[in-house]
Amino acid sequence: MDDLSNAYPTHDPEWVRDMHADHYLQSWSKQGSRPRVITGAQGSWFWDSDGKRYLDFQSQLVNANLGHQHPKIIQAIKDQADKLCYISPAMGSDVRSELAAIMNEITPDNITSTFFTTGGSAANETAIRVARHYTGRTKIIARYRSYHGATGGALSLTGDPRHHLTRADMPGIVRMLDPYVYRLPTGHTDPAKCPVAQGGPHLEELLMYENPNTVAAVILEPIVGTNGIIVPPEGYLQSIKATCEKYGILLIADEVMAGFGRTGKWFAVDHWGVQPDIITSAKGINSGYVPLGTMSVSTEIHDWLRDTPLPGGLTYAGHPLACASGVAAIRAMQEEDTLAHATAMGETLRTELHRLAEKHPCIGDIRGKGMFNGIELVKNRDTREPLVPFAAKGDAAKPMNDMMGYAMNNGLYLSFFSNVIRLTPPLNISQEDLMTGIEILDRTLEIADKDC
Ligand code: PLP
Repeated sequence: MDDLSNAYPTHDPEWVRDMHADHYLQSWSKQGSRPRVITGAQGSWFWDSDGKRYLDFQSQLVNANLGHQHPKIIQAIKDQADKLCYISPAMGSDVRSELAAIMNEITPDNITSTFFTTGGSAANETAIRVARHYTGRTKIIARYRSYHGATGGALSLTGDPRHHLTRADMPGIVRMLDPYVYRLPTGHTDPAKCPVAQGGPHLEELLMYENPNTVAAVILEPIVGTNGIIVPPEGYLQSIKATCEKYGILLIADEVMAGFGRTGKWFAVDHWGVQPDIITSAKGINSGYVPLGTMSVSTEIHDWLRDTPLPGGLTYAGHPLACASGVAAIRAMQEEDTLAHATAMGETLRTELHRLAEKHPCIGDIRGKGMFNGIELVKNRDTREPLVPFAAKGDAAKPMNDMMGYAMNNGLYLSFFSNVIRLTPPLNISQEDLMTGIEILDRTLEIADKDC
């Protein structure tokens, strides 16, 4: 056999880039890129093979809620690995039961039991299957500005333009418009008089055409994440929930991005006291250190499942390493008062953004809750003409790409969707680091101002 011991020189960044370009398939991208090679991270910072440091104003994919390398999460994974790495999902396991009990503790009162998955897509897949099974109906209503995952069903639910990359969607998806107050549907200027922004009236209208008896569930991100940090107006979620209840339709809250303190509460629905029938989550549950997602259901659904098998299962459901990391992350958030810190830092961040808006004409809208924020960039504040068109790519997205490049070269990691920059730092970022990020953002926005 060949001696391969020196065949893979793991620390040569050029080799890492070569292999990345030629042998690694990257999500949602054209292949062949040669990225920066990240060699370490701590807290709100990560660094590359040249020793250059970056402030993570995105918490990676909005999952590193407790930042990088949190010692309590790492220790819990190590301890669990020493004890028991894997045991089938049907067997009892202390960390599995403990995480299920914690989920019961922190989810809304009506939500009492949890199925563990490997991430958000699998959580949503399972949620729609349970909803169809429980109601005996097939249609699912999902919104246009949404991302629910990349597996077959979850990508079909997704309204994000990436869903156009596939050819065969799961049947039975009906689309609803979004409560996007900054850009209401044509002809509307007042959210209070707009059925779409009110929620219930728009849903009622759809149901008139669809027949409510055929609709199993409405799935929505209580605060839209990937597609531009869209916070619904007051009363929206309550109105959707009331309409769902009227017709026996389940409400599924996809809290994959917004959950676990991201908005300053355990779940975004808590801002409005709404109790969905199913909550899905992932990402921030353990800051992404090990793959983990959840699908949590109401007591009614759980009781019904006592007599009917759960229509789903995964080899890695309730993986002990993942559960141990989830327990440690949630306990760390409780011990470190992370939700209160995220609320305070979020307020500071938005105050600073309003200060920046006084000098940057490109800032059209500032929105968010807690550490889940976005700024929408425009060419003209009066007309609200977007800085780049919806879902722009390539040259059409140049000002946005230029800004991301400038920020990265200056040590700030940001991301965007269409004309919205998302600002989602770790929940435990220090005030000093937050201000460092804002200062680089301030300079970055000068690029967009040139188009105003
Ligand atoms: N739902 C929402 C709201 C998300 O933001 C994401 C991922 O970004 C998903 C579902 C899919 O989660 P995953 O990538 O863990 O499958």
